[in-house]
Amino acid sequence: MIYRDYGKTGKKVSTIGFGGMRFGKDEDYAAEVVRRANELGINYFDTAPFYCNDRSEEIFGKAFKNMPGEFYVSTKSMVNKEPDADSVRRRLEKSLKRIGVDKINFFHMWCIMDLEQYKKVMAPGGPYEGALKAKQEGLIEHLVFSTHCKGEDIRTIIEDDVFEGVLLGYNVMNHPYRQEGIKAAMEHNIGVVTMNPLGGGLIPQHKEYFEFIKQWDDETVSQAALRFNAAQEGITVSLAGMGSLEEVEENINTLKHPIAFSEEKLQEIKKKIINDMDSLCTTCSYCTKCPKKIHIPHYLEAYNLMILKDEATMKKHIDWLKQEGRIKEESPSPDECIACGVCEELCTQKLPIIQRLKEIAEA
Ligand code: SF4
Ligand code: SF4
Repeated sequence: MIYRDYGKTGKKVSTIGFGGMRFGKDEDYAAEVVRRANELGINYFDTAPFYCNDRSEEIFGKAFKNMPGEFYVSTKSMVNKEPDADSVRRRLEKSLKRIGVDKINFFHMWCIMDLEQYKKVMAPGGPYEGALKAKQEGLIEHLVFSTHCKGEDIRTIIEDDVFEGVLLGYNVMNHPYRQEGIKAAMEHNIGVVTMNPLGGGLIPQHKEYFEFIKQWDDETVSQAALRFNAAQEGITVSLAGMGSLEEVEENINTLKHPIAFSEEKLQEIKKKIINDMDSLCTTCSYCTKCPKKIHIPHYLEAYNLMILKDEATMKKHIDWLKQEGRIKEESPSPDECIACGVCEELCTQKLPIIQRLKEIAEA
């Protein structure tokens, strides 16, 4: 395992972190998976309320009772669900109890979507104030934030110097969009943790297409995608969701090759991304506030296939989504979009959703 300094906190954290959002139903097995990851060198564990039907924090609590090695835990308070100091305090106390620790090492102001929301987080009596008080009481060690803002807005937040680290979605597809934020974090020497290295599962689901990111014959596309994050200068921890012992092994084995990509390979990836990858939907679902209740992530996921393959494959995928009941027969169709723009404001990839829905409707 490779360990890196988490900003100025004095903590050395594993470059691969454990994302606790993929546990199955068997909680004892899930706890075993956590402990195995720790045994193999992972010491950064990320959880949150609501992950895995709200069981993730308790699963970590179970695992932490007899962890083989030192570990740090990160959890979160959702800025729009806990919008003031008191509700953050209640959330924190619940997390401490469920995780079974007396302090949270990294506590996130979770999911700051734009600078408007950031202002609300920092307002008197707001979430930050509540978290800061808890930090002064020793219940939180390091106060950090997670965001889906664009790079320039992440820079604005970092430059206020109120947080010790940032968690952001970063992967081979969207990396140009977040670069400025990572640069700002490096300038201010704060930790950077990345999530969503597999682009919401899109990368492993389209292995053949993403073969080009592999540098070694014996690595999987998923390993190459995780290594892409871990190799990036300025990134402290790359989170990978793990729900089984096999996934732990696969993620750890990412480091069996030198972590860095060759300059030639990086150029090849960048060229390809600039050509078409930056335009893919990662199915993150942050756009689901449509007043017409259109299933935007499902339709945009299907549109990915138009980009990666062709219109016929996209149509086939939409039919499949309907057969599976993921898009319900009675739910609104893409041509019911009224172009209000709400989804485009929220989109983490800043995609032209309205135009895409129009093209899907025409197809
Ligand atoms: S622009 Fe269309 S799809 Fe987007 S939120 Fe508005 S109605 Fe829904
Ligand atoms: S359209 Fe944008 S916000 Fe919605 S799921 Fe796709 S990437 Fe995420």
